[in-house]
Amino acid sequence: MQATKNISNSTQYYLEKEEQYGAHNYHPLPVVLKKGRGVFVWDVEDKRYYDFLSGYSAINQGHCHPRIIETFVEQAQQLTLTSRAFHNNVLGEYEEFITRFFGYDKVLPMNTGVEAVETALKLARRWGYDVKGIPAGKAKIITCENNFHGRTISVISFSSDESSRRSFGPFTPGFELIPYNDITALQIALADPFVTGFLVEPIQGEAGVIVPDEGYLSKAEELCREAGVLFIADEIQTGLSRTGLMLGCDHENVHPDILILGKALSGGTMPVSAVLADNEIMDTLRPGDHGSTYGGNPLACKVAITALQVLADEKMAENARVMGDHFRNGLKMLNHDHISIIRGKGLFNAIVIDHPDKDTAWEICLEMKENGLIAKPTHNDRIRFAPPLLITREQVDECLRIIGKSLEKF
Ligand code: PLP
Repeated sequence: MQATKNISNSTQYYLEKEEQYGAHNYHPLPVVLKKGRGVFVWDVEDKRYYDFLSGYSAINQGHCHPRIIETFVEQAQQLTLTSRAFHNNVLGEYEEFITRFFGYDKVLPMNTGVEAVETALKLARRWGYDVKGIPAGKAKIITCENNFHGRTISVISFSSDESSRRSFGPFTPGFELIPYNDITALQIALADPFVTGFLVEPIQGEAGVIVPDEGYLSKAEELCREAGVLFIADEIQTGLSRTGLMLGCDHENVHPDILILGKALSGGTMPVSAVLADNEIMDTLRPGDHGSTYGGNPLACKVAITALQVLADEKMAENARVMGDHFRNGLKMLNHDHISIIRGKGLFNAIVIDHPDKDTAWEICLEMKENGLIAKPTHNDRIRFAPPLLITREQVDECLRIIGKSLEKF
């Protein structure tokens, strides 16, 4: 898996620094980036690439979107952090904006995605005890196999990926895993009266862009309603226009009881996440029950308003839908022997590589990098394609040529 070809001295310099001084908890592609604009990034030798990862979908609006950067700089010169010990003149404006935008009574602002997931889990448990009446310590949350919701101990407690759990136990109890996209399994799990929530990704991103059957989300929501269980959607990666609508759940007119957002909520400028719910759920929290020093800081709030406005004003969901269809059609037309599956929605797509050599997906990514497009394999044999949502038809066509040319080598 070591990539040694075509690495310049200048790139090598940066790789060695990270190798020596940084924890080895990632395996990045050997490219060192220094600048980004729109769909493009440039490396330290000024070579330009199409970014087909978009910071794991944090950069839906494109790198350094001018309106987002302008808001960021303006607010950074006024006030960046008050903590929640004091009020600030932006938080309320943001709370009103985002709750109206998504149709909820209240929002709880956090920073990273996994913190928002933890917040949602706490809210679901609190609601389970205080509103549903589950006996103390018995609340259970149902999650799906092959999920990805982040990296804290509680969240990896219900991961089915051994590499994210090895030697990190003991784990947090109170979670049950069922197969994804399996309504019968959900129905059986919901029969337990101590279940308080069902946490689900509308499309499983890290698992390799696994799109569930049509009707799965709406049926799951209906079953949760019937069972008096909260439907909790992790839209950290699927949300904010990525899949061709504002939310992944919108494809089935599902309105989650708890909505979790992150990543593109700041257009890639800083960690901003949010949990949205109605009063019955949110009002179970009292002062001191939960919080975060940076959560709801005025810089994040201002940036998030503009990041959402940009998505809406520039009709990014619509572009994601049209360009996504065009992109998947183009991939099909490549008709390549080693692409066994093409799947996705909007500009959230993946291919599965069928090749006896298990490093082939990595090697293809190295080849695409040479040809001017960067993407990253997930789970060895899958390559995710998720460019910024402002990509044009001409750019998609050029990217398809790059992907086709890169695959020809294999
Ligand atoms: N949930 C989903 C669906 C994600 O894709 C991710 C990150 O990739 C997370 C949660 C965790 O977000 P963060 O890395 O910001 O903690």
